[in-house]
Amino acid sequence: MINEEIKKQYIPTIGLEIHLEPKTKNKMFCNCLNNPDETIPNTNVCPICLAHPGVLPTINLEAVKLIIKLGLALNCEIPVKARFDRKNYFYPDLPKAYQITQAFFPFCLNGKMTPFLEEGAGEVLIREIHLEEDTGRLVHLPDKTLIDYNRASRPLIELVTKACIHDSKTARAFAESLQVILRDLNISDADMEKGQMRVEVNVSVSKDDKWGTKTEVKNINSFRAAEKAIDYEIDRQIELLEKGEKIVQETRGWDDSKNITISQRIKEGADDYRYFPDPDLPEMIVHGAGGIFDLNDIKKEIGELPNEKKERIMKEYSLPSIKAILFVINSEVFEYFQKTVFEIKNILKDSNNLQKSFELIYNYLVTDILGYVSLKNINFKEIKISVLNFAKLINLIIENRISSRGAKMILEKIIQDDNDPEIVMKENGLEQVSNSEDLLKIVLEVLSENEKTVLEYKAGKVSVIQFLIGKTMAKAKGAGNPGMIKELIERELNK
Ligand SMILES: [Zn+2]
Repeated sequence: MINEEIKKQYIPTIGLEIHLEPKTKNKMFCNCLNNPDETIPNTNVCPICLAHPGVLPTINLEAVKLIIKLGLALNCEIPVKARFDRKNYFYPDLPKAYQITQAFFPFCLNGKMTPFLEEGAGEVLIREIHLEEDTGRLVHLPDKTLIDYNRASRPLIELVTKACIHDSKTARAFAESLQVILRDLNISDADMEKGQMRVEVNVSVSKDDKWGTKTEVKNINSFRAAEKAIDYEIDRQIELLEKGEKIVQETRGWDDSKNITISQRIKEGADDYRYFPDPDLPEMIVHGAGGIFDLNDIKKEIGELPNEKKERIMKEYSLPSIKAILFVINSEVFEYFQKTVFEIKNILKDSNNLQKSFELIYNYLVTDILGYVSLKNINFKEIKISVLNFAKLINLIIENRISSRGAKMILEKIIQDDNDPEIVMKENGLEQVSNSEDLLKIVLEVLSENEKTVLEYKAGKVSVIQFLIGKTMAKAKGAGNPGMIKELIERELNK
């Protein structure tokens, strides 16, 4: 363990490299299907993605549009000119012996995003986002290795941040916020377990403003692992430096079972990939005069971004950040909330209760309805209760006609058959006596039956009021509104 005082002397610097699988119909440079769920090896292959001699690639414009969409959502510049280059290296999962990528003229440059899932996280700068093709997959058996080219040449988006992050929480929040954006814009499912989103972290520490020697950590399969891997690397590097040792520039792997990083490959100078423009693919004029896309059209398709949505929810419904985030992540649930709000506006007798209704709708929706969904392990879409009946139920609470206990009981009954809550309330005798005349009658009866207790109260033992409330509730058969009963008793006793 490192002393916290020593740790404070070091500044960690973190950069992220994130690979994303965009959801396109076809592969990046041929017409094979881009199907991540294909289980039979070497099914989605053709002479182009298998690199037979004499074949020519064509650019998948659907993939290009998705990367531009992401770039615009992340405040990137979209340069007019873009180009694909060859990255040369030999490996069995790479049939061409080069990977088509963008080394010099990527589609997106200089973006930024403030991770909206973490309160107070600072802005993260994005160096570039480029498009490339994926490699095939090696399957190692005890006596041989097999190759599956289904993944070969599937489109891959790579996002590289600037080394501008200084704590693991911000790094994690950036990746998590990015996932929300990708799903919201339907660019990628970005499931880390399925490898649709692969996060690599670069970490270095330094006592001054110069960068230290960085290490790169791979094999990270969850956001939690990314945070832990960064924290581990920071501690490991500080410990080495404190012992007077040097940091080795290397690639390390995260071991999720042991919670440590392990050295995988020492980097001896930069790899020589002999990048050069792919002569088979034309340079692209992305937008502007003679360009392929109209950026304004793509901007229109983007609409409201998740971070903007969060701000709007907080403002419109006076909900705190954490509650707004839940809605940003669950757009179906938010839609249900909005529709319920629309209904309740027509039902409420007093519009001053609107604010209170937002809070109640949120709480019953998140605690009770979502609680039911997770308990029954079903999809939110399978819930039968209509927004109208849900709004009616909330209105019964606002009008004090049911207690919160009663509301929960009714909700449980109507959640899957969508009955009218008012009818269910009456059928089950759950209506509170909120009519003050009826309730006053009962209160007066209780007071006359319990003269001794009344005298005790008047002598200063105010706690006995609980006994009187209990008696009244019992007489009202549990259907009395406790707050109202207390008020009436106090008024009578203080006359
Ligand atoms: Zn193909």
